[in-house]
Amino acid sequence: MTGPTIGVLALQGDVREHLAALRSSGATGVAVRRPQELDAVDGLIIPGGESTTMSNLLSVFDLLEPLRARLKDGLPAYGSCAGMILLASEVLDTRPDAQHLDGLDITVRRNAFGRQVDSFETDLEFAGIVGDPVRAVFIRAPWVERVGHGVEVLAEVPDGPAAGRVVAVRQGAIMATSFHPEVTGDSRVHELFVDLVRSR
Ligand code: GLN
Repeated sequence: MTGPTIGVLALQGDVREHLAALRSSGATGVAVRRPQELDAVDGLIIPGGESTTMSNLLSVFDLLEPLRARLKDGLPAYGSCAGMILLASEVLDTRPDAQHLDGLDITVRRNAFGRQVDSFETDLEFAGIVGDPVRAVFIRAPWVERVGHGVEVLAEVPDGPAAGRVVAVRQGAIMATSFHPEVTGDSRVHELFVDLVRSR
C-alpha cells in the first residue's frame, strides 16, 4: 500500500525534519511553496518557526486564501508550535497584523511559557499514543488557553509551573502540538497524523 502524500509548508522553519518524520511514518512528504503544490497534497504539516513571519510569507507566496479554502474544505492538517499558532482561531500576544487560519477553535498564547523557561523538555501522556510517554521539546512555545466545543485535548504539561497547560489538541482532521516531535526521532505523533489523513 502506498502512503498518502503529505505536504510540509516550506516557507520557513524546520521543514527537513518533518519530511524525514513523514518518511518514517509511511507517507510521502513533499515541500509546499506554491498553490499548485498545495492542491496536490492529501494533508499538510505547518512546521515551527516564527508565526508572524510565516503569516506574512503566506500572503507573499499567495498561499493564504488557497490554504484557508482547503482547510475549510476538510484538508487534514497538523501544526507544530508556530504551526499551532497559525491554525488557531484566536492568538494572544501577537502582532496586530498577523493572520491566522481559523482551522481550530482554540485560543493560543504565543511564547506563553515565558522567557525564564524559553525552552524545555518533558515527557507527556498523549491520547492515542500507547507505550512510552512522548518526549516533548518546547522552544518558545505557545500554549492553548481556551478549547472550543468539539476540540479534543490530546496532551497537557504533567508537572512544574505550567502543570495542566494544554499543549496538544485535535478538532476533526486538524491537530496541533505546542512542541516539536520532529526533533526527537520518535515518529509516533507523525504516525497519528498519517493515520488521520488515511482515514479521510
Ligand atoms: N515563538 C514562535 C512564534 O511565535 C514559535 C516558536 C516555534 O515555532 N518554535 O511563532
